[in-house]
Amino acid sequence: MFNFSIPRSAIENIIFPSIANQEAAQLLSILSQLEQTQWLSEAELLEYQFKQIRPLLIHAYHTTNFYQKKLDEINFNPLQELNLGIWQKIPILTRYDLQKEGHNLISQQPIKSHGNINFTETSGSTGQPVKVAKTALCNIFWRGFSLREHLWSGQDHQQKLAVIRFAGVGSGIGNPPDGNIIPNWGSPLNLLYNTGVAVTLSISADVSIQAQWLLKHNPHYLLTYPSNLVALAEHFQLTGEKLTNLTGIKTISEMITPKIRQICEETWGIKIKDTYSSQEVGYIAIQCPQCHNYHIQSENVLVEVLNEENKPCKTGEIGRVVVTSLHNFAMPLIRYEILDYARVGDPCPCGRGLPTLTEIIGRQRNMVTHPNGEKRWAQNALDYRVYTDDLKIRQIQIIQKTLTDIEVKLVTEPQLTQDQERELKEILTESLGYPFNFKFIYVDHIPRKANGKFEEFFSELSR
Ligand SMILES: [Zn+2]
Repeated sequence: MFNFSIPRSAIENIIFPSIANQEAAQLLSILSQLEQTQWLSEAELLEYQFKQIRPLLIHAYHTTNFYQKKLDEINFNPLQELNLGIWQKIPILTRYDLQKEGHNLISQQPIKSHGNINFTETSGSTGQPVKVAKTALCNIFWRGFSLREHLWSGQDHQQKLAVIRFAGVGSGIGNPPDGNIIPNWGSPLNLLYNTGVAVTLSISADVSIQAQWLLKHNPHYLLTYPSNLVALAEHFQLTGEKLTNLTGIKTISEMITPKIRQICEETWGIKIKDTYSSQEVGYIAIQCPQCHNYHIQSENVLVEVLNEENKPCKTGEIGRVVVTSLHNFAMPLIRYEILDYARVGDPCPCGRGLPTLTEIIGRQRNMVTHPNGEKRWAQNALDYRVYTDDLKIRQIQIIQKTLTDIEVKLVTEPQLTQDQERELKEILTESLGYPFNFKFIYVDHIPRKANGKFEEFFSELSR
């Protein structure tokens, strides 16, 4: 097993081989299978996925109003084996469907052995919340894939982990300036292993406070949002201070870009490990331990990357990410369009059969629309050096209001001169590809969204 260490034993005086308690044994059972299945071929994986999806489809057909209607429309026959031809006839489930018809997607006969049902509400990309019902079983799978992510990252969990993120209720995230010290890395790692300590700090802390806190704790690993990482990297470049123990960085929630990877390598000499997940379906893709590719987590979700005609994209093409959660029988999400875009990759040289994505590009909301209707990626469109070196912009947020109007919120000190505003207009025109009417608004601070995410660009025109 990759980077294996012996789990903690639940039996007195038994250390090797250890015997785990029931909760840990369940996770180890998933993990040991994942260690094998990652090497299956893409075709074999699809075969297993269809084996799992067939009972899901039948359950959805018989116990939800939504799927009974949708599957009747394509003359679905529950007795027939599932194949790609039948699969591709199933209509795409849109986020709008989920908002409008959520109650009709919930199974009227939940399966008892899948455990209690909980509801997750997510603001997602458009700011309009969707509510998803999930079983306790979904949570067990979440933990299983979280363990795989840990194994793949190669991190030594005996070392110190620093976490800077949104401090939700019961999150254990400490307030500035001191943060919080937790004796272990938390679930699911602490269910299996004795780990080193984790130190936590709320994302509400100023970057300089975060930096002081990091210097004090000198952690081996750091977990935070990409946008915060950029701010920290800029700070450390400026002060020249060093985090001498830092050997690994993981990011969460926001999309990562080549620009962010670059600044982390320049500042700390570290390659970021990124994971693509969503609250609705859990783990979608994790970066390969050997390469830059993201491996789709085929044992958790079936991922399709589709073009505008709903046909699968070829290698190198960018398309809409459509996911099917294999294990959520409480609220089946079948061919759910999650409103992200990704680029399809080749089979990975590491030998894993899990299909690859080379880039997770972003949300539709993060695309700028030109007056002729053409769209292009805009999130993180600016080079970070523009802010720090030339214009001393501390924070920027670009909001498309109409087809021709863009509002630019700025935190600067002092306010930009007319020449500097003109320079910024030119830079923005070039990176957004059109001479929009830019309106600059100076503010003291641009807050993150309630869930801690920060968007540098978003469009109010997106659905
Ligand atoms: Zn790989």
